[in-house]
Amino acid sequence: MNTAPHAFFPSAAFAAAAALSTGLGGVLALRLRAHLHRMMGFAAGVVIGMVCFDLMPEIISQINSGGFNPRQVMGALAAGFLLFHVLEKSIIIHHHDECAHGQPGHQHPNVGVMSALALIGHSAMDGVGIGLGFQMSWKVGLAVGLAVMSHDFVDGMNTVILMLGSQNTERRTIPFLVLDSVAPLIGLGLTCFFALPPFHLTVYLAFFAGFLLYIGAAHILPEAHSENSSGVTVALTLAGALLALGVSLAL
Ligand SMILES: [Zn+2]
Repeated sequence: MNTAPHAFFPSAAFAAAAALSTGLGGVLALRLRAHLHRMMGFAAGVVIGMVCFDLMPEIISQINSGGFNPRQVMGALAAGFLLFHVLEKSIIIHHHDECAHGQPGHQHPNVGVMSALALIGHSAMDGVGIGLGFQMSWKVGLAVGLAVMSHDFVDGMNTVILMLGSQNTERRTIPFLVLDSVAPLIGLGLTCFFALPPFHLTVYLAFFAGFLLYIGAAHILPEAHSENSSGVTVALTLAGALLALGVSLAL
């Protein structure tokens, strides 16, 4: 095992918390619909704040201490942001095609399954992010763990919304929610088998920061305002970002 033993337990705790957060988000999406968008607004603020106040300062200090080329590291950030954008939009474009071919207003159940599988792959990457964060340092591991935990709640909700929204039954939806919940643990488990040198860790961290930034700013935030958009949602996003600032000052 390459992760230091003292870091394995907290990283496992965060991956387990991410798993619970995903499950909880999914169950809430199944049971409670009234406050979902406000919770998403708050989660978006936390994720954006964690990237700006924790991950970016850490990336900058790694660039300085290792003498790395900042453009290469920022290239990884742009790649993380854009790759997720391309993946997300290609699923949605596919989704519109299916709508055009099928009955209007109804989506094929397999579109929901494909989207849920993409989310499960994403959640496994969240677990890899936690493991590699703790390989770098406790502080980075904590920052990544908190950012993952807060948005995984939305991952769980989305799994349910995507499956139910494309005519899948609740019974068919639950196994996907369970898979999405255990995926961070599987991702973390994978990081026990390899360790990255400092430059590659910094590049991965930047890639992951770009990916989280996209999720927070371009995915969760617009979704938070897609229904019942209000000043309360905006205030919750600011509160989430302030909470992330507070956590980073306390770390
Ligand atoms: Zn996630």
